[in-house]
Amino acid sequence: RILEGDTFDGGEKAWENELRPQKFEDFPGQDDVKEKLKVFVAAAKFRNEPLDHVLLSGPPGLGKTTLSKILANDMGAEIRVTSAPAIDKKGDLAAILTSLKPNSVLFIDEIHRLSRHVEEYLYTAMEDYYIDIVTGEGLGARSMKFQLAPFTLVGATTRAGLLNAPFRDRFGIVERLQFYDKKSLQTILMRSAEILKVGIDEQGAEEVARRSRGTPRVANRLLKRVRDYAQVKGDGNVSKEIAVYALNQLGVDQFGLDLMDRRILSLIQEKYNGGPVGIDTIAAALSEERDTLEEVYEPFLIQEGFIQKTQRGRVVTEYAKNSVLAES
Ligand code: ADP
Repeated sequence: RILEGDTFDGGEKAWENELRPQKFEDFPGQDDVKEKLKVFVAAAKFRNEPLDHVLLSGPPGLGKTTLSKILANDMGAEIRVTSAPAIDKKGDLAAILTSLKPNSVLFIDEIHRLSRHVEEYLYTAMEDYYIDIVTGEGLGARSMKFQLAPFTLVGATTRAGLLNAPFRDRFGIVERLQFYDKKSLQTILMRSAEILKVGIDEQGAEEVARRSRGTPRVANRLLKRVRDYAQVKGDGNVSKEIAVYALNQLGVDQFGLDLMDRRILSLIQEKYNGGPVGIDTIAAALSEERDTLEEVYEPFLIQEGFIQKTQRGRVVTEYAKNSVLAES
């Protein structure tokens, strides 16, 4: 599947890294966020201080990890990358925090998944760069303050709404990434094609961009697949014609929706008469995780105007009925 959010095999990860821009100039889109971050980075550098803590939210594949690495690069800082599920205990976090070099960036992916006690343990680290470390056990146990080197925490989350307010308030910079417009995706694709050494013309890139769900990660993955078709069925170059052919074969329709998107829409329409229907019911009916539906599929379907969220559940819109659903 093209959309699988967070499960990559090693090869996939290496390939993603190869296409990852290293500086702001190579990172099209997200202009608002980028402009602000550039100012904050310049100011922090000017004061010779670490950057304030940053919270980046938005659906998977929009560039949260990439931006964090660019931030660190720009600060001339080291970056340590981890994710909430890997920080199970306070001790895990203490080990990371105490080993950071001054002014490093600590990137924690899926930060909404931190357990409550680990999250609270971060509070003093974020505010005053210290943690309490307990030595000994039972009656002999002692707590002592351990001073940390100043650092920047960059948290990434697909679900900013799930963060507790006291935690969210400790981030000085809070930004939400948006889905990309076609033009930015086209630019990203042209750059990726160059790195992958595959020929692509503007119309070819535009067609792939149009069907990439506003998401660079999806765009890059589709490019990789379309390249296969270009090499086997064409002359090796990605033209509009090859892109249309390949994307249709891959089950990505002209609205950029894939099989799962269309299954969600037809389920609501056909089994529930257009809705409203609860997210858990949809998840059960499609044997898909509720989280995946809410984090990966729904945001795009909502943004494109195919479904609406109501108090009583999800409904398909008139627009969906007259477009995607009319065709299937
Ligand atoms: P996230 O952390 O939000 O899930 P990533 O930063 O890992 O997303 O980005 C996923 C892929 O998409 C990476 O290969 C990255 O190179 C690419 N990508 C994301 N945003 C951009 C962008 N603005 N320009 C170029 N490539 C991008």
